[in-house]
Amino acid sequence: MKAIVIGGGITGLSVGYELLKKGHRVTIFEREERIGGLAGSFRVGDAWIEKFYHHIFKSDTAIVGWIEELGLSDRLIWRTSPMGFFHNGMVYRFGTPFELLRFSPLKFLDRIKLGLAVLRFQRREDWQSLDGITCGEWFSKNVSQATYDVVWKPLLKLKFGDAHQSVPAAWIWGRIHPRAKSRSKGGMKEELGYLGGGFELMIQRMKERIESLGGKIIERTAVEYIIQERNKVKGVVAGGQESFADMVISTIALPAFLRIAPPLPKDYSSNLESIKYQAVMCLIMECEESVSPVYWLNVSDPGITFGGLIEQTNFISREQYGGKRIMYLFNYLSENDPLFIMSADEYLSHHEASLKRINPSFRKEWVKGKHLFRAQYGTVIYTMGYTAKMPPFDTPVKRLSLVNTSQIYPYDRNMNNCAALGQRFAETVPSA
Ligand SMILES: Cc1cc2nc3c(=O)[nH]c(=O)nc-3n(C[C@H](O)[C@H](O)[C@H](O)COP(=O)(O)OP(=O)(O)OC[C@H]3O[C@@H](n4cnc5c(N)ncnc54)[C@H](O)[C@@H]3O)c2cc1C
Repeated sequence: MKAIVIGGGITGLSVGYELLKKGHRVTIFEREERIGGLAGSFRVGDAWIEKFYHHIFKSDTAIVGWIEELGLSDRLIWRTSPMGFFHNGMVYRFGTPFELLRFSPLKFLDRIKLGLAVLRFQRREDWQSLDGITCGEWFSKNVSQATYDVVWKPLLKLKFGDAHQSVPAAWIWGRIHPRAKSRSKGGMKEELGYLGGGFELMIQRMKERIESLGGKIIERTAVEYIIQERNKVKGVVAGGQESFADMVISTIALPAFLRIAPPLPKDYSSNLESIKYQAVMCLIMECEESVSPVYWLNVSDPGITFGGLIEQTNFISREQYGGKRIMYLFNYLSENDPLFIMSADEYLSHHEASLKRINPSFRKEWVKGKHLFRAQYGTVIYTMGYTAKMPPFDTPVKRLSLVNTSQIYPYDRNMNNCAALGQRFAETVPSA
């Protein structure tokens, strides 16, 4: 059968690759200049770097599988990396159980209870019963209100904005449970993975692999609408031209899908419309000096204007970037937030005072290069009872399928779950 895949992000590449392996003919349309989507990269000097910070976990077996299949295993680096928490003017180390025990913003008993709660999430197999209770309710009942207020509430707020109060506890399970395997030395330290040379290498190798199997990837060509005939999909219009296919698979965000979809029954489209997204913006700074003492700095301090600071070169050697220190400053936000349309200079000025609070020596002059990236659909906002809303692969239009990040709940939206989602979808399609 001939398949058209809309979107050349990790999900679209996974769907395309798996269908090719099953003997189907595949064309992938990608709107942007390069494939990769949210996992896409740009160049800093001679090096590729992700537009949005990326690492993987030991438990990310689907994406590690890609790396092996594509002959890149020798470039995969696993490292423990320092994590921190900025709270009330102080950076606290927050990556290991010992560091948690020393986390003085919480009372000692609360630190123990928080550690035990993490263990419970790691060991617990059932997440379904956590779909009907909010993170706030679960933590105040099972750990303490203070733990929720100091640790989880700020993290939820920075990711989901005003909707943070209705995020189900299943979301926390989905972040903690699969990652238990990323811990080494009896669970003491978490190892994070990165691909030497950047994840762009994996994406470009995947492109070559898809093309070697006869697949076509057409970049710089947006699908403008999906054509149906007598309630069966017929193809798409992309770049002003019709392309016909036996099946069409949309891997793009739901609001973008709804804009190009053929007429759909009201109850179906209303459900898709009710699933909301947070936008995200990231400023990558090329700096002369280090700003943060850790790789990943979470923020639990209402005075700080950004959501987090990730110093890539506290994880990956500076040599990879010609000796520069590279860091990401980011915010998840509503696409209507005035911040979302700021220029790189405005965004940096907006956050300057907060950067000085993290590191009082910080000077704007340290920043020698700035690159700002935004994504309107950065992450799906999960709300209570999300399971009932989660759309299936099938749509009301025959052979038109949806495969996207709205379908990976309660797991975290990451490259691994997108690759696995594409594989799961392909299992539902008979071989050619
Ligand atoms: C800030 C941030 C940090 C992240 N950190 C990590 C991390 O550390 N580790 C990790 O594993 N994952 C991370 N992720 C998540 C990971 O990047 C995503 O889960 C994954 O890339 C999503 O892939 P996707 O294909 O589902 O969607 P997308 O990447 O959104 O791809 C969709 C593609 O469709 C294209 N498109 C849209 N409309 C059309 C159209 N009409 N026609 C043709 N093409 C179209 C888009 O241009 C895009 O390329 C992060 C994401 C963000 C935003």
